[in-house]
Order: sequence, then C-alpha cells, then structure tokens
Amino acid sequence: MIEVQDIHKSFGDKKVLTGIDAIFEPGKVSLIIGGSGSGKSTLLKCIVGLHRPEQGRVFFNKQEFTAMDFEEKVPIRKEIGMLFQNSALFDSMTVEQNIIFTLDMFTEMSKSEKRDRANFCLERVNLMNTNKLYPSELSGGMKKRVGIARAIAMSPKYLFCDEPNSGLDPATSILIDELILELTQEYECTTVVVTHDMNSVMGIGEYIMFLHKGQKFWEGSNQDMLHSDVQELNDFVFASPL
Ligand code: ADP
Ligand code: MG
Repeated sequence: MIEVQDIHKSFGDKKVLTGIDAIFEPGKVSLIIGGSGSGKSTLLKCIVGLHRPEQGRVFFNKQEFTAMDFEEKVPIRKEIGMLFQNSALFDSMTVEQNIIFTLDMFTEMSKSEKRDRANFCLERVNLMNTNKLYPSELSGGMKKRVGIARAIAMSPKYLFCDEPNSGLDPATSILIDELILELTQEYECTTVVVTHDMNSVMGIGEYIMFLHKGQKFWEGSNQDMLHSDVQELNDFVFASPL
C-alpha cells in the first residue's frame, strides 16, 4: 500500500501541488486523471522520490519514504518499477541493454542471468526477438512495451506508469492497458497510472483521482464513477482553463 499525505510542491513561485492526499491499494490499478499541466507527473515524481515535496509525507507499506536518507531508500527503490512518460529508453543501448541497465543497478546477477531475465521480461510483454534492436527501430507501442519490460525487471511491488497510452492508436492502447492490469494481478503490486485520457485506462482503474490545478477534485471507485456525472467531471477537468 502507498499512502500520500498533504503533498505540496512548487517550482519557484509556481505552486504545482497544493495538498494532495491519497491511498493506493495493492493488487489494484489506481488512476490519476487530469488535464495537461495539472501536476500529474510532478505528483508521481514526488511519490517515487525524484522530486522532494516542500511539505507532506509518502509511506510505502507504512514506512515513511520521505523521512529516509538515500541508503535507507534503496530497498524500496528496488521494489519500484516505473514506466516514464515517453518511455525514456536509452537510445544508444539495445532493447536488452536497456533492461540490463536496471538489473546492473540493483542486483549482483551474473551476465547470463541478467540476459535471461531481460529476455524473460521481453517475452512477458510479447516482444520476442527484439532484444538486439535499438529504440529507434521500434514503433511507439513497442517502446512502451520495452518500458514496461524494464519496469517489471525487478518484479516490482509498486508499479508507476506515466501516460502509458500517449501516442498510441486505440487498439494498441487497449492492449497496453490489459497488460498493465495483468501484471498488477500477477505481481500483486500497487499500481498507479497517470493519464490525461479519460477513455483509455478507464476500464482498468479501480480507484480514480481527478487532479485539477494541483488539487484533488474528485476521487472514488469506478463503481462510484458510474453513479456520478462523468461528462460533468470530464468537462470541468479538461475544458476549464488551467
Ligand atoms: P502534467 O503531467 O499533469 O501534464 P506536470 O506535473 O508535468 O503536469 O507539470 C505541472 C506544472 O509544473 C506545469 O506547469 C509545468 O510546467 C510545471 N513543471 C513541471 N516540472 C517542472 C520543473 N522541473 N521545473 C519547473 N516547472 C515544472
Ligand atoms: Mg505529465
């Protein structure tokens, strides 16, 4: 479980997050939805420790991550898998090397073990025989899959996906969503997906949070969502000026 309490984050004078609270449960996909610039990526980065919030606390399984020093964070960082916005693959490395890079950072595996693990993860995301290709040789959907393969390399307990559907056609989007849901159930991990796209990923999220101007505008289960005015939420979050 991940618990986020009263997160505040500014860049210079610009207040980007002004008091976010949330609980993300294990074995489920939680969604953070909001318009462009609403602070979604910033929130994700505050949770995983890539940004330091000015105020607020983040707990992983009741342990306060925000109170830990670099060394203390390592065991939790090993349990975090992250799919970055735009996949963030290293262009100068092959697909296999991109995944091995993560294993190099966190494990003492032998070279052949790392290669086996990388190929196991690639197979899991239906990317057989791509290990020697470079990111520039892949389609957008394939890059996302490599990003996901890298995110599961360490068998994550926590999985974060920033805009997993951006730039994908609707059919590929659905496949990526299904893959994220399957992996969440397989690893029983706490999964948080950030998106600006109401239609995609809606099917996989059990907890949904709408972010607007750095604040939580609405939260609930997908069941609650059925009983609320989705169109009104959608219009408010996406049509009003930021
Ligand atoms: P989203 O992911 O919802 O589109 P972001 O979290 O990326 O939004 O950004 C929210 C706001 O914070 C934007 O106005 C963006 O310009 C600003 N911002 C994000 N990261 C930085 C940064 N490193 N430095 C300065 N401003 C930033
Ligand atoms: Mg973003």
